[in-house]
Amino acid sequence: MKQSYLFIMFCTLMFLVSCKGGDDSIIQEDTKTLSTGTVEGKVFAKNGTKPVGGALVFTIDNKNHVYHTYSNADGTFSLVAPEGNTTLHIQTGNGLNFRTEIPVTVKKNETITVAGKDSKLNQIAKIAYVEGSYDEIETIISNLGYAATQISYHDLKNLNTISQYDIIFLNCGSRNFTQTGTNTPGNDLEVFDNLSTFITNGGSIYSSDWAAAYLVGGNKNVISCGLGAGFINYTQICFSDSGSIGMYNNCSVSNTAMAASIGFNTLDIQYDQPLWEKIQYYDPLFWEVLVEKGNEALMVRTNKYTNKNAPKISVGTSLNNNHMTICHHTPNGNMITLTINQNAWSAHQAHGDNMGSCSGSTNSGNIYYTTFHNHASGNIGKTGPILEYVILNL
Ligand SMILES: [Zn+2]
Repeated sequence: MKQSYLFIMFCTLMFLVSCKGGDDSIIQEDTKTLSTGTVEGKVFAKNGTKPVGGALVFTIDNKNHVYHTYSNADGTFSLVAPEGNTTLHIQTGNGLNFRTEIPVTVKKNETITVAGKDSKLNQIAKIAYVEGSYDEIETIISNLGYAATQISYHDLKNLNTISQYDIIFLNCGSRNFTQTGTNTPGNDLEVFDNLSTFITNGGSIYSSDWAAAYLVGGNKNVISCGLGAGFINYTQICFSDSGSIGMYNNCSVSNTAMAASIGFNTLDIQYDQPLWEKIQYYDPLFWEVLVEKGNEALMVRTNKYTNKNAPKISVGTSLNNNHMTICHHTPNGNMITLTINQNAWSAHQAHGDNMGSCSGSTNSGNIYYTTFHNHASGNIGKTGPILEYVILNL
């Protein structure tokens, strides 16, 4: 009788903790001594009003076990964690660009609530953008409460200039802005080389629509598949400017994590400009499709780009000099990408973690590409939350 009672208690505890995303090893090791409480709250962008879904929320105990959950699309979260004084970490993406740390005291069998003013995501990254036309991602960045520095097309030729940033946004139409003679991406090898080196060393870029020319070559834009000379080979992705004005109805958000973060998995997309860059072909081993209509990819990303000939350089803000991204392994085989203080690495290494994110095979940054984008006038509809997701997850 007593044994079966204990067994039921054990199972109940197993269920309660594991379904909240706890680090299962704790259960096996410390069943009798584990005392937990709940931390609730809501993740906001820096502006204090925009809820952020899909954020990783976690605490780490003194044995480097990780207790984690993710914020819902409305920003709310509920985390079960061991009692005591600890640090609540909130991170998006791999945790290098946006993260927040909050001291909390978890109380046994109680629920504490973190104040909204404390659970705002801080900008760690240094962000740059190149001004475009019909596209102003910088407006969305600043509306979220974050800061981005304008750089010129010419600045992309200077590796010292761009390597101080973590993220560079290449707006559609930005090549027009400083176009003088041959000063365009299509024949400017310095720009391609520098973007290649930047990404290989951990920098991330976003490009939209005509800014596909930064990836695969092209002057004003990419006229057709395979003509350019960019840093991404045309066997990996191909574009042509064959898009026409019109609605794309019932597009799918094919990435489940992004759908959970933004809170919807279908949307209608308005293409209000002619000659937008349609994705003709992509290598599914290289690119992950995030939004599509039927079999036509409309938004892709990769963290698999690497150039083995690129020089090793330091990229990004010095605020990350004592931080590193790791793939934390839980005892039952789950893997979580998170960013930690370097001092904690040896303990994580001891329980089998890897350096770098769980999904990538390299230390490269991300490349995001969207066929759609913000535009100076008009209603961008549900692509707005998608572009916000891009910003917070680059
Ligand atoms: Zn670990």
